[in-house]
Amino acid sequence: MTAPARTPLDAWISARIGLPKGRALNSECLAAWQLARLNETLAFAAAHSPFYQRQGAGRFAPRLTRLEEIATLPFTTSQTLRDEPLQLLCVSQSAVARAVTLRTSGTTGEPKRIFFSQEDLEATIDFFHHGMSTLVLPGQRVLILLPGELPDSVGDLLRRGLARMEVIGIVHGPVADPGLVLQIIKEQHIDSLVGIPAQVLALARHAQGADLGRERIRSVLLSTDYVPRSIVAAIQHAWDCDAFQHYGMTEMGYGGGVECAAHEGYHLREADLYFEIIDPATQRPVLSGQEGEVVFTTLGRRAMPLIRYRTGDLAAWIKAPCPCGSALRRMAWVRGRRQEQLAMADGLALSITHLDEVLFALPEVLDYRVVVQHQNSDDHLRITLMANKEDRRLPLRAAGEVAQIPAIRTAAAKGLLTVDPIEVELAPGSAAPPVKRMMKEKCI
Ligand SMILES: [Zn+2]
Repeated sequence: MTAPARTPLDAWISARIGLPKGRALNSECLAAWQLARLNETLAFAAAHSPFYQRQGAGRFAPRLTRLEEIATLPFTTSQTLRDEPLQLLCVSQSAVARAVTLRTSGTTGEPKRIFFSQEDLEATIDFFHHGMSTLVLPGQRVLILLPGELPDSVGDLLRRGLARMEVIGIVHGPVADPGLVLQIIKEQHIDSLVGIPAQVLALARHAQGADLGRERIRSVLLSTDYVPRSIVAAIQHAWDCDAFQHYGMTEMGYGGGVECAAHEGYHLREADLYFEIIDPATQRPVLSGQEGEVVFTTLGRRAMPLIRYRTGDLAAWIKAPCPCGSALRRMAWVRGRRQEQLAMADGLALSITHLDEVLFALPEVLDYRVVVQHQNSDDHLRITLMANKEDRRLPLRAAGEVAQIPAIRTAAAKGLLTVDPIEVELAPGSAAPPVKRMMKEKCI
């Protein structure tokens, strides 16, 4: 068996850190370069950001001598991006090329505000350019199913990154009408897609999506904070294509890491970001292989550097070297968000990840809603599926799968949880799941 192609991020990082041609990239030379950029970032933030001046008085002044010493610095949380975003700004407002306002579904209060300078956006385009060469070749045509109407929006930056490798990127935006998007794929001779997992799934599970043929779509990039494995498998099965995962969030400058052809975790955007994984309880770094919260620090961001930003995403380091030959560390697939746990009686918690895996594996399911309702001492789990076709056996099949989830099995065995009969709503022909996955809410 031939080894999978090495991640293009290795060559990109080598060039970015100025390694002489022929010298192999390894974690030591990357760490030395990251340490220098980290110290520059700390000095820059302390000099220009009122928030970091205040928070870091006396702490940022001494230069770090090892990357691990970053653990002595305080965290930045999303609350700061809501409460006092301008206090994080390190350039004049006239130097802000793009300001993003992010509202999280289901939360009240101020939205997050994130600012980018022109050079920050250029860094994102550069990452998209090299990261996308993992899955497309010059001459290919990519339909971008991410917001991209506005200049410098994520879809627009991706299109510009693709143009640098002579790949045509066509920005469509999020999928509102799967039938229309499938028609565009045919008419525009699209052979690669970039989109949000549940929305690409809606295309693959659409009647005309199955008609696309197994040769047309060569690769798909699923971009979000985490991607259920069941969605990846369903898309690969429908189109016989290579489905890659991209991990990113707006705060990272959209891009964070991308799988290589080995499909065994993310190679990271390490020329721009320094990643940590911490135990959320102790706030100390986790051991390799142990799951914790992803934390990142920007290494060259100008408008709004973020130091030890807590993402809320759960992931682990992979110790073994990647089959693609990269010598750099990898992050295992993100396994959902800390906030996406439904609390049940007796301290039990149900992870949305588990529900995603079993429910999206059912071929009729496009999306779902779930609510845990506390009634007296008993919890009721109420699930409503959005399905692409009618099948009266679907509720029972879904209930059978849900009952196998360990947290649900334990809670049910203790008499603490009742899974109510699962309801099914038929998706209208033109409907696609919204950009943000349906809210998983918790009612008390
Ligand atoms: Zn690899």
